[in-house]
Amino acid sequence: MNKIPMSSPDLTDAERQAVADVMNTPMLSMGQYVKDFEQAFCERTGAKHAIAVNSGTAGLHLCVRAAGIGKGDLVITTPFSFVASSNVMLFENAIPIFVDVDPKTGNIDTALVKDAIENTEKYLPRVGAQHAAPLRSRLKAILPVDVFGQPANMDEIMALAAAHNLIVIEDSCEALGAEYKGKPAGMLGDFGVFAFYPNKQMTTGEGGLVITNNDEHADYMRAMRNQGRAPGDTWLTHTHLGFNYRLDEMSAALGAVQMSRLDEMLEKRTQVANAYESRLQDVEGVETQFIEKSTSKMSWFVYVVRFDKSINRDELAQALIAKGIPVRPYFAPIHLQPYMVEQFGYQRGDFPITEDLGKRSLALPFSGVMSEEQVAQVCETIAELI
Ligand SMILES: *Cc1c(COP(=O)(O)O)cnc(C)c1O
Repeated sequence: MNKIPMSSPDLTDAERQAVADVMNTPMLSMGQYVKDFEQAFCERTGAKHAIAVNSGTAGLHLCVRAAGIGKGDLVITTPFSFVASSNVMLFENAIPIFVDVDPKTGNIDTALVKDAIENTEKYLPRVGAQHAAPLRSRLKAILPVDVFGQPANMDEIMALAAAHNLIVIEDSCEALGAEYKGKPAGMLGDFGVFAFYPNKQMTTGEGGLVITNNDEHADYMRAMRNQGRAPGDTWLTHTHLGFNYRLDEMSAALGAVQMSRLDEMLEKRTQVANAYESRLQDVEGVETQFIEKSTSKMSWFVYVVRFDKSINRDELAQALIAKGIPVRPYFAPIHLQPYMVEQFGYQRGDFPITEDLGKRSLALPFSGVMSEEQVAQVCETIAELI
């Protein structure tokens, strides 16, 4: 039997042809393909502006800059995420204020967000926050993450943000195509960010994109991705100190075809997730993904299960890998990454729910091109080993 990959992009001849078409033009960057790709996102989500960039991390970073978050500013966010969602604050010498997550979904716990707004001192890291006084005025934003393709509790987050004049950056890098109470993920905050690394729901190779309804922020982000060239600047005039965060035309052409196939690809991913669910629901000690009522559409990014405390997750993972089934612990808590511990003095036990999920969770092989037989093989092997 073929080795099962951890994840696979879902590509067809249409994508290959689109990339080849770009290669037959002289314009490999800053052309029409990026504009068309951005337009597809405006149409899909209803956003006024879409700004394509060369990674999800770059997109999040531009949002942090546009939001005016700088040295010593505080942003409430989750430690149960991919590191990029916190790193973008560190790039600007701002301070992520972590709060723990809902044990069922892994999304940021909104009761704790409220507490962190009202009692910010309690949530400051042990070290590295010397510049954070006076605290309340340093609190600038909330950065929730739509974990595993399920939107965070955005109504409550937006109500808290409105009451306290905070900006909301929605990290939807795992949730393209998901819906919260009928509204598209990414459209629920002031900014929404998507990512297109090859394991995401759709890919451009490397790539990312920001959506927003704010004209001024959109202009600023377009300038900042393009070496700081503001509208009206010539090639060698730079209003701002900018970055090169541009997406190239080959990637945009690939992405435009992927966008046209998004519903088909999401449907295939849902079928694979359903196949997993039906085969795993009766395996003792295995807990599958909980989906909130507010999630009117789940967009499956990864397939993560949790094991009962009585099962040694790491031994099981090793045994699966030895049998040719790739698996990955997911997520490793951000606050316990070496550079976070060094800068902020975090310790084990600081965010117990995040740490517990981090210890008991395992991402199984998952993609829209995975076959029913492959799902069966993974599930049977898990059941055997348990
Ligand atoms: C994938 C991802 C990103 C962005 O990743 P890039 O590799 O920079 O495109 C950001 N946040 C989360 C939660 C992600 O899963």
